Amino acid sequence: MSFRLRLHLEELPVYVPGATFPGAIKLASNEVTFGPLPSVQRAIVDSLASINRYPDNGMVELTASLAKRYGVTEDEIQVGCGSVSLCQNLVTITCEPGDEVLFGWRSFETYPLATRLVGAIPVQIPLTDELSYDLPAMADAITDRTRLIFVCNPNNPTGTIVDADSLRAFLEKVPSGVVVALDEAYFEYVRPSQSQAYDAIELHREFPNLVVLRTFSKAYGLAGLRVGYAIAHPEIITALGKAHVPFSVNSVAQAAAVASLDADAELLARTEAIVGERTRIADRLRAVGYRVPQSQANFVWIELGDSTTEFADAARDAGVIIRPFAGDGVRVTVTEAGENDTFLTFAERWAAAPSTA
Ligand SMILES: *Cc1c(COP(=O)(O)O)cnc(C)c1O
Repeated sequence: MSFRLRLHLEELPVYVPGATFPGAIKLASNEVTFGPLPSVQRAIVDSLASINRYPDNGMVELTASLAKRYGVTEDEIQVGCGSVSLCQNLVTITCEPGDEVLFGWRSFETYPLATRLVGAIPVQIPLTDELSYDLPAMADAITDRTRLIFVCNPNNPTGTIVDADSLRAFLEKVPSGVVVALDEAYFEYVRPSQSQAYDAIELHREFPNLVVLRTFSKAYGLAGLRVGYAIAHPEIITALGKAHVPFSVNSVAQAAAVASLDADAELLARTEAIVGERTRIADRLRAVGYRVPQSQANFVWIELGDSTTEFADAARDAGVIIRPFAGDGVRVTVTEAGENDTFLTFAERWAAAPSTA
């Protein structure tokens, strides 16, 4: 058949769901293994009684909770159906076909897809040797056609973060009209050194073109409900509101997110164990020769080059699903000690005798 679809869609890949099997240890998607807290579960159950109604399309209660939490005004916040939808909408509100979206590479897979979907051009700047965003090189790559810049910090999939000084120096170089999206999906797992510490909300005040993206999917454990948010200048928020798919943040998700903010301390306490495990895993992997950059997220990156696919297939045969990036490396979610040990046992066997592990 030949339908009148947009031509450049042909260049976009078709989504292929990741394979899974009963009993698999799922370390491919950076989720938490803990289920929702009892208080959050209660809010979810209570909200079910009114799902015959449309959700609040203004997401008023959640927006107010977030504004209070961050000390910003409600017109500086847009809630979205996961922060991926906000990434997509940022492209939609900034780019005409042929415009450029700048980001580091390798990085979050949504950036090039969202960019190409509207016919804009992804400009991918290679990571540094330490596998972190090369902000000076990105500043040099800005052109008259640059409309949007993604800075993924910590970077998915390498886990690295940039220095606060280099982030500030970068923001000073970006023309004030170019929107910079600081994607902090893993913010709650960051334990910065002094030189890495910055306050994104303060930076947003100082640089009105800075959009801070955060999510309830990772540390808050609500990946299945789809809630993320942007903190930005009211003008950008207004534009994001126009691109928002009506009612796409459902009422159960809104209730769960509000309850999660109320249980903040308890949820964030859970990140401590992950941070401890992250160090333990990285140390063990390095001890047997793997190259693992310093991660500030709830996953580690293992550089494997041409062995990547073989390694991931063998891990799957050992019962562990991880995320391969062919020719490059794998991303492995850090969860609780038992699951991590199953992966480590496999990885140590592989290091001793690749392909027979
Ligand atoms: C997981 C992730 C997101 C957001 O996910 P949502 O579930 O859509 O909120 C955004 N950016 C990065 C880099 C991520 O890894």
